[in-house]
Amino acid sequence: MEAKLLHEDKKKQTLLFEVKDASPAYMNAIRRSIIDNVPVMAIDEVEFRKNSSILYDEVVAHRLGLIPLTTDLKSYFVSKDCKCDGAGCARCTLKLTLSMKGPKMVTSEDFKTADPKIKPAFDKIPIVKLLKGQDIEFEATAKLGVGKDHAKWVPGLAWYTYKPKLTINNNAKKIEEFKDKYPPQIFDKSGKIDKNLMLFPNLVGACEGICDELIKVEWDESSYLFYVESWGQLSCKEIVKTAIEQFDSKIAQFEELVKKLK
Ligand SMILES: [Zn+2]
Repeated sequence: MEAKLLHEDKKKQTLLFEVKDASPAYMNAIRRSIIDNVPVMAIDEVEFRKNSSILYDEVVAHRLGLIPLTTDLKSYFVSKDCKCDGAGCARCTLKLTLSMKGPKMVTSEDFKTADPKIKPAFDKIPIVKLLKGQDIEFEATAKLGVGKDHAKWVPGLAWYTYKPKLTINNNAKKIEEFKDKYPPQIFDKSGKIDKNLMLFPNLVGACEGICDELIKVEWDESSYLFYVESWGQLSCKEIVKTAIEQFDSKIAQFEELVKKLK
């Protein structure tokens, strides 16, 4: 098996790599490991001291849970594997507080965090709009958790396709005839079809079968394109690296169990 990095955009937090000579089952195992097993921080409990906003406590709490928090995997443990057995301690949880008075749009940048490494990944996520005279104050507990327990702990999006084999023929007449049917992003400044613009973001499916004389799409079933997009808690590389480590450790645990069988 071989893997090669094809594209990384650190600003948009996206990654594309190619894998050769693997099975769909293996690729899917990595995808599921990313979604289910890579731990990230998310708000899990909220204690409200004041809330005279238009939203109920539960609605605000739900919104808070879905705010991606930057995650430091070296300093925290997943709650249920921590020495505290999931009760919550400084090794697996972190407190974030917020206290605001209206009139104001309360956003994720208004949080105060006890650990500067753990903070909202984006500043301008709206939480609630306070009118004059309304206020909100709460203490939220963020926990390190995994996506198989709740979607708020999913680190991002992961998906793969077979590698497309693209045959492109920039026939000016045909382009004129079919241009409207293709995604506009695939054309370069001079109006020609650019292969690379079709791969990232992946627009191959949207180009298949429209006009084979212009773009012919075939699929190489021994190679894969694997896409990762982070929600902001971890970098894409950290996500992939941790997913593979988690996968390996599960295989090692299974191996230990099998050895005991005899
Ligand atoms: Zn703990």
